[in-house]
Amino acid sequence: MKVTVLGKSPSWQDADGACSGYLVEDGDTCVLVDCGSGVFSKLRGACDYAAVDAIVITHIHADHCLDLVPYAYALTYGPCAEAVRSPEDGTVRGPRLLVPPGGAARLQTLTGAVGHARLLDDAFAIAEYDPAREVRVGTVHVRFQPVPHYVPTHAVELRDAGGRRFTYGADHGPTDALDAFAAQTDLLFLEATLPVPDDDGPRGHLTAAEAGEHAARCRARRLVLTHISDELDGERALAAARRAYDGPVELARGGAVYDV
Ligand SMILES: [Zn+2]
Ligand SMILES: [Zn+2]
Repeated sequence: MKVTVLGKSPSWQDADGACSGYLVEDGDTCVLVDCGSGVFSKLRGACDYAAVDAIVITHIHADHCLDLVPYAYALTYGPCAEAVRSPEDGTVRGPRLLVPPGGAARLQTLTGAVGHARLLDDAFAIAEYDPAREVRVGTVHVRFQPVPHYVPTHAVELRDAGGRRFTYGADHGPTDALDAFAAQTDLLFLEATLPVPDDDGPRGHLTAAEAGEHAARCRARRLVLTHISDELDGERALAAARRAYDGPVELARGGAVYDV
């Protein structure tokens, strides 16, 4: 499996960057995990967007789903439009769009406000995943784990036929939910949004030190810190994570490619 970082910014983009978006390729199978602001532009440079098999959305926050809007417009009005939508019966043959429970209605509200309510339905084959059930996309198996955030959110694991695993925590506060889910994963992407812990109300994000602690508890083979603004001190985040986790750790960088 190959994992490409299309975007790693938090809720505002880095200079020339994009919010959350990770492209996972395994042979002919192509899965996009999250599609935040700016990701569609990066996707266009990385692969044929009409040939993506599935898009998995971890949660309905702008920095994880907003570029579904231009993506849907491209599938609707771009050169692939006829291939995506049958002219005879209107059947949608576009990429599968796997969203959290309740996500389809929330996305319809969003697209209704900025375009039309059925924009995504006309471009993607939308399904709400059941977090308790594994989903198969081509040769890749996808598992879900609810994590604590401000809206229903799921960490995801993508596993190839050989059992190699990529685990992405999405956005979350401190939790022991990942301990078993991500145990001994080959590649672990964890958010490290906060310079210091937020202490007002329920936690929804991690510091880099906490990301390192989570990776150590999971015994992950490799850790990548993500969802950190380029306006913050990445080197300090790396050092904090390394104090808690003694495996290989690095900062996510747009365009970086990982072999899993
Ligand atoms: Zn986010
Ligand atoms: Zn979020």
